[in-house]
Amino acid sequence: MELERDTQHCDLCGGGPLSTVDVRRTLRYVVCRACGHCAQALSSAAQREAFSEAQSRCYNSGESDAQVHFPEALEGETLNCRIRMLRKWLAPAAHVLEIGPGSGRLMQWMFEQGFKVSGVEESQNLRDLLPAALRSLVTVGEFESAPLPLNTMDAVCSFHVIEHVPDPMAHLARALALTKPNGLGFIATPNARSWHQRLLGSHSIHFSAAHLRVFSAKSLATLCHAAGWEVVAVTTPAHSNAWFRTAAKGLRLLKGEDQDATAGRYGFQPSRRMRVAIQVARFLSLPVRWIQSLCGGGNEIVIVLRHPTK
Ligand SMILES: [Zn+2]
Repeated sequence: MELERDTQHCDLCGGGPLSTVDVRRTLRYVVCRACGHCAQALSSAAQREAFSEAQSRCYNSGESDAQVHFPEALEGETLNCRIRMLRKWLAPAAHVLEIGPGSGRLMQWMFEQGFKVSGVEESQNLRDLLPAALRSLVTVGEFESAPLPLNTMDAVCSFHVIEHVPDPMAHLARALALTKPNGLGFIATPNARSWHQRLLGSHSIHFSAAHLRVFSAKSLATLCHAAGWEVVAVTTPAHSNAWFRTAAKGLRLLKGEDQDATAGRYGFQPSRRMRVAIQVARFLSLPVRWIQSLCGGGNEIVIVLRHPTK
């Protein structure tokens, strides 16, 4: 589904007006002022080329150009958040399909918990990097067209995938077709209404050549509903790594570094002292992140969907 470029109405919420945000020469978003949805304009050849390059980088290394490498503890925080959600919603031994399993850490956890897991991965390279026990469970191909059995899954997980796909409506419709009635869909994606995006504006950590869209909770729920899903829960978790990435981006801006040339170059291997400081910062920021999450301003939107029975 694409935003209509030549009207002043958003085709997700029907509202408007639409405005544009220029992130850099090769990256422009059309933003709906009513629902907050951001869609890449892709109006020039340079913009389309930047998207293709960023997408192929994702498929080779599993990283988008907005990604900053942070320590294990911070990445583990997001993983634990997913695990808490799956524990809450999934029945024992449920058949779960993960779209784009990335490093495979969540899939590995599900496998060890006794869930019947399958995966679909567009990149042969990323599939080959998965732990050996998981590789045979992963189909290589595009999720929307891969030969997967219909009406068989108890749940489909799509974590930080939907912002990359050209047709998110087809993505959601396919997930619905694969699940049994009453089956669940779990979607996570960056939040256009996050405090991080409000703070940095066009320098938002969510704006990346590989992200065709940045959804708001409203625009994502609208699209899920239009695809035939029942929306049962919407949350916006606030993870510490998003604050570290926002701080790193802010630092680059203050230093006046060229955003194009330095995209994705900020990462670090922290010293022991730094690791302790990070843990303290995580602990101290908990109340703020809790409020941030409650206000709908967390860095990601996590939505739980149900396949309606009629
Ligand atoms: Zn809208």
